Amino acid sequence: MTGIDASDQRRHPDVGPERVTVLGSTGSIGDNTLDVIARHPARFQVFALSGKTRLDKLFEQCVRFRPGYAVTDDAASAAALSRRFRDLGVPTNVLHGSQGLSFVASHEHADVVVTGIVGAAGLLPTLAAVEGRRRVLVANKEPLVMMGAVIMERAARSGATIIPLDSEHNAIFQCLPDGSTDCTGGGVKRLLLTASGGPFRTLDASRLADVTPAEAVAHPNWSMGPKISVDSATLMNKGLELIEACVLFGMNSDDVGVVIHPQSTIHSMVEYVDGSVIAQMGAPDMRIPIAHGLGWPDRIDSGAASLDFGTMIHLDFEPPDEVRFPCLRLARDAARIGGIAPIVLNAANEVAVDAFLEGRLAFDQIPTIIESTLQRVDMPHESTLEGVLRVDNAAREAARELVTGRLAR
Ligand code: NAD
Ligand code: MG
Repeated sequence: MTGIDASDQRRHPDVGPERVTVLGSTGSIGDNTLDVIARHPARFQVFALSGKTRLDKLFEQCVRFRPGYAVTDDAASAAALSRRFRDLGVPTNVLHGSQGLSFVASHEHADVVVTGIVGAAGLLPTLAAVEGRRRVLVANKEPLVMMGAVIMERAARSGATIIPLDSEHNAIFQCLPDGSTDCTGGGVKRLLLTASGGPFRTLDASRLADVTPAEAVAHPNWSMGPKISVDSATLMNKGLELIEACVLFGMNSDDVGVVIHPQSTIHSMVEYVDGSVIAQMGAPDMRIPIAHGLGWPDRIDSGAASLDFGTMIHLDFEPPDEVRFPCLRLARDAARIGGIAPIVLNAANEVAVDAFLEGRLAFDQIPTIIESTLQRVDMPHESTLEGVLRVDNAAREAARELVTGRLAR
């Protein structure tokens, strides 16, 4: 089994604070990351923050954490933010766009990069962080689905350290021997991803057509951004996570199982060849995997509540229902097929989820759009960035046409 040498990563007590870039700091992962960082002022310092919307929030975060850089989406918002900083004497430089994100993700003064942007928009900065040999704490799973093999290969070449923050993958990382990320040959039989089942776990199939965006984003256990909340409701989140697990841990998709566990207390498990199953448990609070990633190989306070074994008594498990929730099957098939399939799956899903959130598509049509897009897009697979973006664009275009066609009917 190969992986990261934990002893290399142990912090010397005399070194100064680690400087952290938080990509997507105005989102849910960003909030949780800054909450953990704020608990350890001697250990972490914020190097850069970024946000596309909610610029007042980005402004307030910068006033509080005084990063060297803030990154917005466009030149106009960057100029406006810069003016506000000047008036207040905040020493933060403002950059914008993809170049700005890649700059703060690969900067030699950014010891740690947390990827908290949602969707394919995080691909370039993730690549920049990996190529810049940073310690990369990956929450943003879509880039791993799009070109995971390349990201892992470039990390291995540059010497970047990748630590998963997605709670399931962080749980698996915790259940493997210290620092292991490659499961091939280490006695690992299979990985078991747990899934809450989302807000519609027990809803009758006939009612799925009528669920609203507000109902879909109201996750029973986790508080997350809108896109991943809808993905959790369709089970596409678990499908993306299955592909993410294959990438991060070198597993075959047939050796990654999914089990519905409504309490979200066990965050995932590793089964070994001798029959032992090791699980990681904790409150459903993203500050736990984030603190694990930020502190690793040390353990640091996350602020999360302890599990109460006096009152917490039920751990239920059931198989996923791939008939009511076909997205999981679509993702598993895409993982098996490989090539462009995961790129098309991801792009079509982003388009379909956007359309659902904007009230242009029914919830139960999300898998239909994805399946039809997978059937429509037939292109050669190239693992270059340009090749991946070409497929991503073609799939988005096809999915948008399908959404519009459905409306016209
Ligand atoms: P969110 O919507 O709450 O936040 C997204 C952040 O990215 C915001 O700061 C937003 O301004 C920024 N952003 C959005 N589009 C952008 C673009 N085009 N360019 C640049 N920045 C952009 O999302 P989230 O729930 O924090 O999720 C972030 C990522 O982490 C997703 O990939 C998600 O799957 C993954 N993740 C999230 C959680 C969670 O608990 N929220 C758990 C596991 C994994
Ligand atoms: Mg997850």
